[in-house]
Amino acid sequence: THPTTREQTSRDLETFPPPMSSSRVAVIGAGAAGLVAARELRREGHAPVVFERAAGVGGTWRYDDAASADPLGAGGVHGSLYASLRTNLPRECMGFLDFPFVADEGSVDPRRFPGHQEVLGYLEAFARRFDLLRLVRLQTEVVGVRRSCDEAGAAGWSVSYCSRKLAGAGSDLEGEQSEVFDAVVVCNGHFAEPRLADIAGIGGWPGKQMHSHSYRVPDPFHGQVVVIIGYNPSGMDISRDIAGVAKEVHVAIRSAPAEMQSATAHANLWLHPMIEFAEEDGSVVFRDGSRVKADAIVHCTGYKYRFPFLEEEDGIVSVDDARVGPLYKHVFPPHLAPHISFIGLPFKSILFPVFRLQSNWVAGALSGRIELPSPEEMMLDVTAFYSNMEVRGWPKKFTHNLGVEAWTFEYEDWLSEQCGLKKMEEWRRVIYAAGRARVSVRPESYRDEWDDNQLLAQAHLDLSKYIS
Ligand code: FAD
Repeated sequence: THPTTREQTSRDLETFPPPMSSSRVAVIGAGAAGLVAARELRREGHAPVVFERAAGVGGTWRYDDAASADPLGAGGVHGSLYASLRTNLPRECMGFLDFPFVADEGSVDPRRFPGHQEVLGYLEAFARRFDLLRLVRLQTEVVGVRRSCDEAGAAGWSVSYCSRKLAGAGSDLEGEQSEVFDAVVVCNGHFAEPRLADIAGIGGWPGKQMHSHSYRVPDPFHGQVVVIIGYNPSGMDISRDIAGVAKEVHVAIRSAPAEMQSATAHANLWLHPMIEFAEEDGSVVFRDGSRVKADAIVHCTGYKYRFPFLEEEDGIVSVDDARVGPLYKHVFPPHLAPHISFIGLPFKSILFPVFRLQSNWVAGALSGRIELPSPEEMMLDVTAFYSNMEVRGWPKKFTHNLGVEAWTFEYEDWLSEQCGLKKMEEWRRVIYAAGRARVSVRPESYRDEWDDNQLLAQAHLDLSKYIS
């Protein structure tokens, strides 16, 4: 691949003081989080090694035609993209600050909300521009991470890994080896392990079921009556994708703003409250008593956090109802900081810039440029955060949700301050908030019609500073 204009001309405008110490760091995963972690670690003076089990970088954005053999399970397949997927954020908002996600001659899809191939191209270009590919060991899966001590008594992390002969499901793992690192940064993604809706009577229900993790194209639903559970971005897209070929599509939604109820432009697509139960004759009954006889149910019900390479008894973190903890500010287990960290756990924000801030924080904490509170203080902060959630009546599954209105951008601003970096641009925040509001009101057209050209012009002016 030839370097694009953006790769050749993007400029690094930030300078950092020289590091106080340097570490050898294992990064697990080469998706957006792992790539930006590698970049930030290296420019802080550390020596990162990135382990990636797939045959290329990009993580989630590597579309995989193959789906899990079990349509409700993970089945060793990482990718959850469907063929028609376009970004749900506009590109100028979604990209890293100093490597703008703008259309250039290397683009395969120059639209403002491009298809997934364009995002993969962008991440690959990011990896080339910052010379990250030589840090990545492809087709190498981390299978174990353990604390270890060397002969001199220095603490470290033993990382065990296997090579994967073929990418994707069914590939063989072979030749386990291990190496010791000073630190580990976990960037393994959290959109690969399906979470399913609990439906009374589903055991006797005769239809087909699938999780959105395994959805690729609508063709198998031709002429069918399909129930979709969930109306987050994937549920919204998949219901419309399927409505193009199915007889009827019925979407079960937990809670929806009133304006959403009338927002279906498809004559064969209806919104319902959640499912009450399913029956042996194929009926699916909703909470308002309405019922349909359905051929298929598609669970667009999200994913679980999973760290199969961490032994539970090591007590590094535990996962409890979508809460990974204890973690100080979603990143550091207090008693092991800064030597193990997690990048990319939050959701409902402008994720690539968040990953970048988290990575800079980890890199700075490892080098001694950024001081962390004591383990006890960090633990107190975590406990206070959990109590605060409880007082507000928020469930544990909101722990890593940065989209909760009361704390919008609070976390991002806090991280910027810790890192000594500029706060996220005002235009990015406004475009993001306006975009989210548009999705609910105009799910059919929000990617192709907008009224924020003024902000867009401001964004392009700002981003142009990073491309000379
Ligand atoms: P991933 O991209 O999942 O990368 C994790 C990597 O770790 C993978 O390459 C995996 O192979 C590797 N890995 C895992 N375990 C191991 C192991 N044991 N050893 C070695 N390697 C391992 N975000 C947006 O900003 N805009 C959008 O429009 C958007 N749309 C989305 C649509 C869908 C359907 C999904 C699922 C997500 C979407 N996201 C979107 C969120 C997306 O997940 C993030 O943008 C981002 O790509 C996540 O990056 P990550 O590096 O954290 O995880």
